[in-house]
Amino acid sequence: MGPPHIPAMPMDERVTDAAHGGTPPAQSATTFSRLRAALRGTGSMAAVLGVAVLLVLGAGEWATRDELDTQWDNLRRSGEVQALALRGVATRYSYLPFTAAQQPLVAALLRDPDSRSVRDAANTYLQTVNAHAGSDTLYVMDANGLTLASSNWNTPSSFVDQNYSNRPYFRDALQGLAGRFYGVGKTTGEPGLFASAPVYDDGKVIGVVAVKVQMQPIVDTWAQLRDPVFLADERGILFLGSVAPWLYKTTRPLSAQDVLQVQHDEQYGARWAPQPVPWQVRQRDDQPGVELKLPSSGKNYLAFEEPLPDLGWTLTLTADSKVVAQARQQAWVLATLASGLLVLGALYWQLRERRLQENRQARIELEQRVLERTHALQQAQAFRQSMEDSLLVGMRARDLEGRIVYVNAAMCDMVGYSADELIGCLPPYPYWHPDDLDRHWNDSDTALAGKAAPQGNENRLRHRNGSDVYTMFYTAQLIDGDGKHIGWMSSVVDITAQKRAEEQQQQREAQLQRVQRVITVGEMASTLAHELNQPLAALVNYAAAARSLAAQGKTELLNDSLTALSAQALRAADIVGRIRRWVRQHPEAREPCDLNAAVDQSLDLLLRAEARRHGVVVRLDLAQASLQVHADRVLLEQVVLNLGLNALQAMQAMQTAAKALHTATHPQELLLRTTTDAGQASLQVLDRGPGLPPEIAERLFEPFFTTRSDGLGLGLNICRSIVESMGGELLARNREGGGAIFEIRLPQAPTP
Ligand code: ADP
Repeated sequence: MGPPHIPAMPMDERVTDAAHGGTPPAQSATTFSRLRAALRGTGSMAAVLGVAVLLVLGAGEWATRDELDTQWDNLRRSGEVQALALRGVATRYSYLPFTAAQQPLVAALLRDPDSRSVRDAANTYLQTVNAHAGSDTLYVMDANGLTLASSNWNTPSSFVDQNYSNRPYFRDALQGLAGRFYGVGKTTGEPGLFASAPVYDDGKVIGVVAVKVQMQPIVDTWAQLRDPVFLADERGILFLGSVAPWLYKTTRPLSAQDVLQVQHDEQYGARWAPQPVPWQVRQRDDQPGVELKLPSSGKNYLAFEEPLPDLGWTLTLTADSKVVAQARQQAWVLATLASGLLVLGALYWQLRERRLQENRQARIELEQRVLERTHALQQAQAFRQSMEDSLLVGMRARDLEGRIVYVNAAMCDMVGYSADELIGCLPPYPYWHPDDLDRHWNDSDTALAGKAAPQGNENRLRHRNGSDVYTMFYTAQLIDGDGKHIGWMSSVVDITAQKRAEEQQQQREAQLQRVQRVITVGEMASTLAHELNQPLAALVNYAAAARSLAAQGKTELLNDSLTALSAQALRAADIVGRIRRWVRQHPEAREPCDLNAAVDQSLDLLLRAEARRHGVVVRLDLAQASLQVHADRVLLEQVVLNLGLNALQAMQAMQTAAKALHTATHPQELLLRTTTDAGQASLQVLDRGPGLPPEIAERLFEPFFTTRSDGLGLGLNICRSIVESMGGELLARNREGGGAIFEIRLPQAPTP
């Protein structure tokens, strides 16, 4: 079980307010930061989308450029290879006409063309060499361009007797140059490469040797390539290529002279006429080549031109630009996928970040609340601690079985045991007073049964140091937070100081009473006792002597003794008389005084305190009217006091007797009553003592009559003397229902 509930602190209220209403700073900060995070999230998402779009576009652009670079690179390399092959074919046989021109047989033929044997020998020679070299045709022309001998002399398409004087290669050779020419064969109609060399005789060109080479093998290799390859001459006429319909078409406009020349040379057949190639050219500044656009097929080609200046030709290699578009599309697809992944990743990241942020925020808020709650609890704890420490009232909580579960500092101080020593204890507790164990058990059982007196129980405890501690216990139910009755809470008030004060007061009152008695009676009594002691002792002696003398019959001596004896008795009487005279002669201060005031005064003086000590209740029944009498106020008060004390003593005697007989006693009451009747003021002292049996009533006012072991029997006697000296009388009688009534009657004095 925990300590008692402490009311919520202001901090709690603030926290509660924050939870149920208003917009506390912490909450608005949270809203703000969430808004900011959302905005930031939106911004970053837009950025991610922007990046994604840029990525897609950039990827397309990059892929295009990369593919273009690759294609151009491939074309360039391919061009180099093809140019090398072309050059090889073009130059491989150029030596042949030159070598043949050195042959004496050839010169001999030219010198003597009509010699059949020479012609046959020359034909055989040319046939043999041509076969060995692998060229198409090797032949010899005279200075007029007429073919005299040829390697194909014995075939239907023989060049012999054919005139090739209009062919440029013939013209070049006739002028002493090495001729080269590509054209369609006049005889065969087949295209081929022609190379020629002059035949000298005595430094004079007398004829020409020419060789024709087939270019078809090269075209065959081009046909295996995916995209078109073609070769144009110096005029831009496409004369060799993998696409047959394009052959002999012009790639650029030709001058009229060029057209005439080509037609004259019958380079591309006798019926050749210029026709443009079927494409449009688009120049690209940033590219190493051009783009060919074919409207008929809708195709586009990248075209790379490899010039062969030594041959006067231009080789063109192409690549379908579709691959570039495909690369771009692939890049777009890939980039779109990648962007999608990026966006998804960004979304995931954003969600994760948001969740993390929310978790972080929630944790911060939780920590903040814990801190506030802890602080509030610390405040409440400190508040409770200081409240407990400041309490002078002891607090003790017990469970339903009576086990101590909590004590505060004041309780510990009160009994001298620490909280650790007390908590867990079951009855009997260490501070129970050993002399009052029965009472403690009784009180404890009553309290645990829920029947503790609401006005509290007075208890005497024993402090650890052995001193007695007087306390008041007030016990109430201990209810927990769920409204369940779980034990008992007692508050314990230390009344030791009050008790001590009361005792001291009682002692003081007893002392005062003693003093008072000494003043009133004791003083006289001691005087009397002392003075009477001698005559009384003498009386005893004389009486004893008289008895002895009488027994012996010594009458004379007996008479003397009796004389002496009566003298002593007279002396004693004289002493008593003297006392009475002292009382009478006591300087009286007669004055008008009130009987009621005398009652009050005597009560204040001693009577009330004495009554309380005896456990007697004083009741007053005072007349409303003025009770003025003419009297010595001090003596009058002494009389009232004496009568009151006698009454208390009588009741005390009754009490003691009842206790001895184990009979029940009732609360005792001392009644003081004043009345007026026919000019007489009366004050009655009424008790519930044993009353006045006849044998006592007769002798009440006799001097030295007493029924008390420690009495002197002079009080009433003196009181009567005093009252009588005031012109009044003192009466005694039995009271109805038990007890005695003593009454002072005094003549009423006129009201001043
Ligand atoms: P003492 O003080 O020796 O008792 P008092 O003269 O005062 O002398 O009383 C004489 C006797 O009268 C007492 O011993 C007692 O027996 C009796 N007496 C006095 N007052 C009362 C009274 N109120 N009730 C009964 N007896 C009384």
